[in-house]
Amino acid sequence: MYSNSLIELDRAHLIHPVASYRSHEKHGVRVLTSAKGATVTDASGKQLIDGFAGLWCVNAGYGHDSIVEAAARQMRELPYATAYFGLGSEPAIRLASELADRAPGDLNHVYFTLGGSDAVDSTVRFIRYYWNARGRPERDQFISVEQGYHGSSTVGAGLTALPAFHAGFGLPFDWQHKIPSHYAYRNPVGDSPQAIIEASLTALKSKIEAIGPDRVAAFYVEPIQGSGGVLVPPKGWLRAMREFCREHDILFVADEVITGFGRTGPLFACSEEEVVPDLMTTAKGLTSGYVPMGAVFMADHVYETIADGAGATAIGHGFTYSAHPVSAAVGLEVLKLYENGLLDNGVKAGKRLMQGLESLRDHPLVGDVRGRGMLAAIELVVDKVNRTPLPASAEPARRIFDRAWENGLVIRAFANGVLGYAPPLCCTETEIDAIVDRTRLTLDETLEDPDVR
Ligand code: PMP
Repeated sequence: MYSNSLIELDRAHLIHPVASYRSHEKHGVRVLTSAKGATVTDASGKQLIDGFAGLWCVNAGYGHDSIVEAAARQMRELPYATAYFGLGSEPAIRLASELADRAPGDLNHVYFTLGGSDAVDSTVRFIRYYWNARGRPERDQFISVEQGYHGSSTVGAGLTALPAFHAGFGLPFDWQHKIPSHYAYRNPVGDSPQAIIEASLTALKSKIEAIGPDRVAAFYVEPIQGSGGVLVPPKGWLRAMREFCREHDILFVADEVITGFGRTGPLFACSEEEVVPDLMTTAKGLTSGYVPMGAVFMADHVYETIADGAGATAIGHGFTYSAHPVSAAVGLEVLKLYENGLLDNGVKAGKRLMQGLESLRDHPLVGDVRGRGMLAAIELVVDKVNRTPLPASAEPARRIFDRAWENGLVIRAFANGVLGYAPPLCCTETEIDAIVDRTRLTLDETLEDPDVR
């Protein structure tokens, strides 16, 4: 009853993100009521393993009292302090400093946002300001990668390369360009790492030439493309792209909103290839989803150029909730948890997850298995030899999602038949094994479903 009345209220009033409003009205909401560790409970009392950590964000897992205490303490003492007018709060200053200590290279300056989209949006503003400060206003063109995701702000959605974020919205802008993805499973140059890296470098070079060599402001990448279907570039790709941008005086932005905070193993995926971007965006695992927060990291030279360019003039970029003290207090506590065992557990659990998913390769529906750490995907096909994708419609994905749910597993089912995994880093071996077993069961049932094949 409780749930039924909520379904009606939801249908009547709550607009859901990235949804077909009409199919949502038809199917109704599924209400979650509580969670602990890696397990979520729905309104019917059903318990499920959350194989996607909410939206790739609850890296620490649910129900940590110490996080709740940190937020409550901060709310009692000082629930809000603006960072405008030269004011500040202790948790925000400490979190910026702790993050700068751990960030790659000289990413020493941190600008806090409310999430990933406004972090990306902020980088675009900072980058325009930077080139103006350098006396190069003509450097106003931006490049990102097909299948990439950089948020849902108007500007970020244009850098995003997923059709649903453009169609009907008048995006992308004419200053937003794309190069093909490294997507190894479906790359016209094949899956050899060297060929893929060469192809991306050539594509970037020709794009820059087509735009005009002195026009490109920045190049945006995700260390692993998340929302495009967990596309893992070959080793050396990130570094090659970074070096190329340095040689061409183009700012290199690493969007670590998904990959940050232990998702691939270390605190930041960039450090796996010793890459130091000019700017880096994070969110999600920063507060493990307990409260909203994102962060832009800025290298010394970017910060200094912007600061000198403005001189005594205020740089007109800020949000009411920039550097929110409660979010920062949560961020500090979450960071402690990562370093007191969670990152290590994530590495162990990630190896087991990858092994488990690899064991599904023998399944008739599984075309590809890929991932790193606790970020993984399997790509379903109707024909393994020709790599024929599942029917391109949201319906099969929804049916697979529903079936996994019935089997006690939350996964991400992308419309193109890719199943995404990003479990909390606290998962036990038993939970990881259950994720794999429940996936196999779901695939076996899917094989019997004529509408999906
Ligand atoms: N960048 C990347 C790489 C992301 O994956 C996301 C969110 N999935 C964003 C930006 C946007 O973050 P948010 O949804 O917190 O606005």
